[in-house]
Amino acid sequence: MPKVVSRSAVSSSTDAQPTASSAANLRVYYCICGEFILVIDKSLAALPRRKTDNAIIIRSQDNDAGKARVFKLNATPVDPILVEREGGHERQYGFHCPRCSLPIGYQSTPPPAKSAPFVYILAGSLTQIQGQLPPDAFEGENDET
Ligand SMILES: [Zn+2]
Repeated sequence: MPKVVSRSAVSSSTDAQPTASSAANLRVYYCICGEFILVIDKSLAALPRRKTDNAIIIRSQDNDAGKARVFKLNATPVDPILVEREGGHERQYGFHCPRCSLPIGYQSTPPPAKSAPFVYILAGSLTQIQGQLPPDAFEGENDET
């Protein structure tokens, strides 16, 4: 595999300081209806996926393999469903959007969220709205028209 070196990010005043709390790096995700669903300390795009259904894996408890992510899930628990998997069944306790009831994720144990080692977010169920432009986004763009 070729080595890709892409350290192109130019530092700006808004970069997180090493000493700042992890709050500086929190990402917010929304249901497609616009409801706030998830705030988490890492981009979902950077998290691992399940092989079975491509759901995004959020580690919700510390264990030998790693530390739990810092996140908060705003979703309505629903009755569990049984999903067929290779070699058996899997019980999924789902979470739905509180506003439009769209399924957005699940875990393997009854609510509340984080009672299981992992919370899974369904692929493509959440969007990230970048609500704030960097302060220098329009620098040099004030030409008269
Ligand atoms: Zn929704």
